Amino acid sequence: MGRGINTRCLHLEEDEGKINHYGALSYPIYQTATYEHPAVGQSTGFDYSRLQNPTRQQLEKVVAELEHGIDAFALSTGMAAISLLMEIFEPGDHIISESDLYGGSIRLFDNVSKKNHYEVTYHNCSKDDIEASIKENTKAIYIETPTNPMMNVTDISKVADIAKRHGLIVIVDNTFLSPYFQNPLDLGADVVIHSGTKYLGGHNDTLAGFIVTNNEAIQEKLRFLIKTTGYGLAPFDSWLILRGIKTLGVRMERAGKNAAELATWLKNQPIIKKVYYPGLPEHPGHEIMKKQARGFGAMLTFDVDSKEHALAILEKVKMIKYAESLGGVETLLTYPTTQTHADVPEEVRLKNGITPCTLRLSVGIEDVEDLIGELTEVFANI
Ligand SMILES: *Cc1c(COP(=O)(O)O)cnc(C)c1O
Repeated sequence: MGRGINTRCLHLEEDEGKINHYGALSYPIYQTATYEHPAVGQSTGFDYSRLQNPTRQQLEKVVAELEHGIDAFALSTGMAAISLLMEIFEPGDHIISESDLYGGSIRLFDNVSKKNHYEVTYHNCSKDDIEASIKENTKAIYIETPTNPMMNVTDISKVADIAKRHGLIVIVDNTFLSPYFQNPLDLGADVVIHSGTKYLGGHNDTLAGFIVTNNEAIQEKLRFLIKTTGYGLAPFDSWLILRGIKTLGVRMERAGKNAAELATWLKNQPIIKKVYYPGLPEHPGHEIMKKQARGFGAMLTFDVDSKEHALAILEKVKMIKYAESLGGVETLLTYPTTQTHADVPEEVRLKNGITPCTLRLSVGIEDVEDLIGELTEVFANI
């Protein structure tokens, strides 16, 4: 891992020194379902695209390098990645997770995984004593940091230490920071999840998901599962994500800088009650983030002074889009109560701090003056 992350987003070292694919700089899209065998009992290494596809494999190698894993799996969406990962568990297994998790993951655990008799206990992992919840059948701790949308920061190394003492695996959904800002495997995690739809793809145009691991037993289980279930990413979508990753560093730097400026500006607006951004020195997770990440990311959440104002802001934004999702070049404003977290029970939402006054901003790479300009106008007219 001698090379810098920006270089690793562009160049796979093992490809160098050999002219392949007619010298094409852009990795070809192998739009094929199947592969001709050279002879009976022989294979080119590719037999059928559900199992292996060169374009998908190239993407998996790049993502494995970015997250410092031994292998990565590219799947059709982030949720496909999480659903597939849940297949490594057995009926009766217990998992400790984060109560402020991505809403779709909670929906999966509570409504689908439940059929497999998995038990999930939710905690605020940034401050609860999760060790006290470990039982004989506990197998994993599944976290996000910072959390979605409340931006709570959990100390990954601390969680990994607890997990090691009890023989559990640690899974980190690293979507919010991307491998550009944070590498959970280096901090003791065993598995990293990404919604590639977000920062890796980066353009609000493609769905994808990833599982990355540095654990050989998990790697082997996942290769078998991907072949068996068929959740693998299509060749063209793999190429789009490969292209998106080329600019990961410049996008993350720029969006992160915009987010930091916006967070400071928002704090001083009379209509804003609270800004949740770990880059602010007063954020309770600020010091942990400084220790375990290389930046604070470009996601921020804020509370306005009334539900009516929250709804009016959503109605009035124009350049900033009122839309679900995050991590793309365009700035998006989301209403967690009715969008991303609609399926989380109301009492859980409120307990986590997600109120009808809460808005989430995925800050893009526009000129920050234009973002502030639009919000100034919107705030003045509600
Ligand atoms: C979006 C998201 C997911 C789900 O990914 P999809 O690509 O939409 O299926 C999972 N985790 C987090 C943190 C997300 O933001």
